[in-house]
Amino acid sequence: MEKTVQLYEGKAKKVFATDNDNYCIVSYKDDATAFDGLKKGTISGKGAINNQMTNRLMQMLEAHGVPTHFVEELSERDTVVKKVSIVPLEVIIRNISAGSFAKRYGVEEGIVFDAPTIEFSYKNDDLHDPLLNSYHALALKLATAEEIDTIKAMAFKVNELLKAFFKKMNIDLVDFKLEFGRLPDGSIVLADEISPDTCRLWDSTTHEKLDKDRFRRDLGGVEDAYAEVMRRLMDSSK
Ligand code: UDP
Repeated sequence: MEKTVQLYEGKAKKVFATDNDNYCIVSYKDDATAFDGLKKGTISGKGAINNQMTNRLMQMLEAHGVPTHFVEELSERDTVVKKVSIVPLEVIIRNISAGSFAKRYGVEEGIVFDAPTIEFSYKNDDLHDPLLNSYHALALKLATAEEIDTIKAMAFKVNELLKAFFKKMNIDLVDFKLEFGRLPDGSIVLADEISPDTCRLWDSTTHEKLDKDRFRRDLGGVEDAYAEVMRRLMDSSK
């Protein structure tokens, strides 16, 4: 399959049309942003890692009954995905307090929750992705009640599968963001990416951060952290 016109360029990926109207090609970039786009930088090798990591995780999820947009990895950075219309919600699942949760509720990072939490943000750059609940999402017609139920159930299932998968790599899955899409038949599939850009990943033994917080907080060793997660992922599939 070949790229035709570029449909969209986001912060970390470009999306191209193909000769088949049912498919797109996503191309992962090394560009990184944080704090609502205020901090910009490059993480060398990130595009290739995030592409390959996302694809391996999506295939694992598919094997456990989670429908995803994944079709075929074309190259280091490029992947064919099903064309979807993205539900304009960022779905965040948390297992351990960190980031904006810790800030918002005035608690330290690292509190292990008895049960995972879910929250939604309205995916809207102009409004800076405001937090909303499912009633707001319904009122704004961002999704139907049935779609919201499906998305919640899928997100918690993805959490259980990812948590167990990362644990085998001696990594704790702290929190992560998912996006979902609608296929032409109206069914909901997991879309976007699952990578150290979109997950907080802590080494289970040392609690070292192995994710984008190294970039956000200028902790150094950003490239090494991404490569380390990829190395453990490859080792775990040997
Ligand atoms: N996240 C993301 N994209 C966003 C916002 C959050 O991928 O636009 C991920 C983030 O990497 C973390 C989780 O969602 O793994 C929870 O992020 P949080 O709400 O704590 O916000 P942050 O501290 O990243 O601003």
